[in-house]
Amino acid sequence: MFEKILIANRGEVALRIHRACREMGIKTVAVHSTADADAMHVRLADESVCIGPPPSRDSYLNVAAILSAANITGADAVHPGVGFLSENAEFATVVEEHGLAFIGPTPEHISLMGDKVAAKKAAVDLNLPVVPGSDGAVESPERAAEIAGEIGYPVLIKASAGGGGRGMKVARNADEINDAYLLAASEAGAAFGNDTVYLEKYLGRPRHIEVQLLADGQGQVVHLGERDCSLQRRHQKLLEEAPSPALNAAERNAIGERVAQAMRHLGYRSAGTIEFLYENGEFYFIEMNTRLQVEHPISEAITGIDIVREQIRIAAGLPLAFTQEDVSFSGHAIECRINAENPRTFLPSPGTISDYHAPGGLGVRVDSAIYAGYRIPPYYDSLIAKLIVHGQTRNECLMRLRRALEEFVIEGVETSIPLHQELIGVSDFINGDYDIHWLEKFVDSLD
Ligand code: ADP
Repeated sequence: MFEKILIANRGEVALRIHRACREMGIKTVAVHSTADADAMHVRLADESVCIGPPPSRDSYLNVAAILSAANITGADAVHPGVGFLSENAEFATVVEEHGLAFIGPTPEHISLMGDKVAAKKAAVDLNLPVVPGSDGAVESPERAAEIAGEIGYPVLIKASAGGGGRGMKVARNADEINDAYLLAASEAGAAFGNDTVYLEKYLGRPRHIEVQLLADGQGQVVHLGERDCSLQRRHQKLLEEAPSPALNAAERNAIGERVAQAMRHLGYRSAGTIEFLYENGEFYFIEMNTRLQVEHPISEAITGIDIVREQIRIAAGLPLAFTQEDVSFSGHAIECRINAENPRTFLPSPGTISDYHAPGGLGVRVDSAIYAGYRIPPYYDSLIAKLIVHGQTRNECLMRLRRALEEFVIEGVETSIPLHQELIGVSDFINGDYDIHWLEKFVDSLD
């Protein structure tokens, strides 16, 4: 097993990884920008190294500085966390070239799934159902119009290098296809330096349902059930729950098995998530994330499995110590993402936390790196805390979530707590009756 792991990330996820290392008796190295010198992930780590100035490109994306930090501290493995370099195949390659273990999949699988056109082709080959659409990249607006004519409007033009919902445009009819194509391509070019786009049928009322898997790269693959991440604004998740209120046990097992089979076939290693849209009882692959996900704790809550611990064991070459039969699902879990942002406009609200009190009690977990007096830097993601609540039933989970949100005190900045409080009182949500467009309509209907 590793003796020392460098955590190439910041904030709550860096702390999350530190906790798993600590429980495994592994020492940790934190890296940080000058803006994060006072951060909790730095304070709790065994060692820390400053890797550059505030902008991410000069610090958390600075591969040379991160590798030097690993070298001078004698770390033997690197955990990339979420975001930043976590899906950068080149980073994974150089980490391994420097004789360090990369706690994640092989660079080949990262790059395969990072190109959405290639990923969708791979999904077809792996016998996963996909959204009807173009067969690969679409070269011109004229070609897009032809394909859209065949599969029928509305359609979605998506960036092959896409992420975070950028480079995605809907065309509702033939008049809109030209502009949608050009806009999506230019947005993709600006955001990702790659203007390749493809086309998909735009589904009207789907849910976003994703399957969490763990694979040891030695033939063992298990799924940890699904998460329902349909509550999104601007294609970004705000609240997730597991299991999905829309699936029954037979559907859960069927899609889980299908994903596990596909990953066995691929020879995948580490944790991963396959994302689907789900409409009228059918699943449609949209993408695979070859890393830990922000919402992983709800799968941990219902299975009792520490996903980061498993990632570390797998990277150390150990086989999975359990089989699918050993995985049992218990109760219901919900995660609320608490962002430092205006709960209506979603504009970021950085600043100093003047008062802080986290909820606790049975079934309540808070993953956060903030504290009273902490100054939220304006340079990074606005996620400042994740509230994860577990109950024996969905109803118990909802009651517990209500009281945990009441207890949560974060003063000095605006947060999404009031929005979560409103959301969980609405009958559509209480009944589990929502799709990916529901939350934006709900927010528009407020005030
Ligand atoms: P990104 O990598 O940018 O997050 P995804 O392919 O994961 O892109 O899609 C993000 C979100 O966009 C999905 O969760 C869903 O809400 C919406 N979406 C993606 N594809 C479609 C589609 N074909 N029809 C309707 N909505 C879609």
